[in-house]
Amino acid sequence: MTRMAGRNFLFVPGPTNVPDRVQRAMVVAMEDHRSSKFPELTLGVLSGLKRVFKTAAGTPIIFPSSGTGCWEAALTNCLSPGDKVLASRFGQFSHLWIDMCERLGFEVETIDCEWGTGVPVDRYRAALEADRSRKIKAVLACHNETATGVTSDIAAVRRAIDSVGHPALLFVDAVSSLASIDFRMDEWGVDVCVSGSQKGLMLPAGLGVTCVSPKALAARKSARQPRCYFDYGDMIKANESGYFPYTPALPMLYGLREALQILLEEEGLETVFARHSYLANGVRAAVQEGWKLRLCAKEPKWHSDTVSAIVVPEGINGAHVIDVAFRRYNLALGAGLSKVAGKVFRIGHLGDLNELMLIGALGGAELAMLDVGIRIEPGSGVAAAQKYWRANDPVEKKKVSRSEVIYASHSTGSTEGAHQ
Ligand SMILES: *Cc1c(COP(=O)(O)O)cnc(C)c1O
Repeated sequence: MTRMAGRNFLFVPGPTNVPDRVQRAMVVAMEDHRSSKFPELTLGVLSGLKRVFKTAAGTPIIFPSSGTGCWEAALTNCLSPGDKVLASRFGQFSHLWIDMCERLGFEVETIDCEWGTGVPVDRYRAALEADRSRKIKAVLACHNETATGVTSDIAAVRRAIDSVGHPALLFVDAVSSLASIDFRMDEWGVDVCVSGSQKGLMLPAGLGVTCVSPKALAARKSARQPRCYFDYGDMIKANESGYFPYTPALPMLYGLREALQILLEEEGLETVFARHSYLANGVRAAVQEGWKLRLCAKEPKWHSDTVSAIVVPEGINGAHVIDVAFRRYNLALGAGLSKVAGKVFRIGHLGDLNELMLIGALGGAELAMLDVGIRIEPGSGVAAAQKYWRANDPVEKKKVSRSEVIYASHSTGSTEGAHQ
């Protein structure tokens, strides 16, 4: 075994870096989850999640699962055996949800799209319009396709459904967008939003975090698909008084409480979104202007603010870049999945991160790319990102005023005042 000195740079698009204080908040003694004190924790995190989902009418639910469990919950709670759903496939995650539908026995009308594009809103509208007998019971949309770095317009999907007066439910996978890219449950008329703990929520994997609309809960009443562990009904009933129908993942709930405190009370959700967009623009500048490489996302309208998939030049294996980055530089980059395996590598830029962390990732990616023979100019990506960030900092807290600089130098004992 050779020792890897220094820290590991984790830049896969989930799990993301867990802030130290969130990690510390999870170091707790086990306790009785049926105590009279316990509801305070449950009710607190559930009300915080409502703000994350931007919902007043919806009901957030936390399952002890990963995000995938919430996919299954959406399908089994709201549908009946053999029901038809409309879905689109343009990456590994949109594909896996379709695969699950088929394995659970649902009929899927799949619209296959080029990888690097997103939810085909016009084709959804046409499919729904053609569905005169209203056979389609749910429309599935992947908000942020993590395999290709593509974000889709969920508000437009809602408009398409409404424009033809179709009653289908809208299920959205927001696993790699929630709490990093703006998501609006109520405004967009989303019926089930599916997410997980290990991406924007900055926690380890282990919680399925989902939210269901009143319309979805009404559909559940007559939905006949068998369900048990993931039944919304048992969960909601127990949650009302602050409990769970089975043993909750205690430390994770304490971690979630701390993460929500950071996201909602300290940084603020809108600032979190602005930071992700600003950091992502720096990464895209590095890829396109610095390295002169292409993103897998075909057009700027698809650009994801949480993950970038970078197309490696012909004749180079993307997996090789990732392996060298990991073994030589202790940098974890995301692999190309399925159809784009070997063709791309991914940089996850979501969760608890800043410019300097990304400079580490960009610099490490440059070293690895050079090592495998990709002809980029050393430092070109880092320089392009720096240039972008220096010109575009939108984060108010960083606009340190001159008087604060003077104060800072006094407080460290300098007698010369601000001299920089
Ligand atoms: C990560 C991810 C998933 C899978 O979530 P798990 O928590 O690993 O089950 C599903 N969809 C998208 C878009 C993802 O990024």
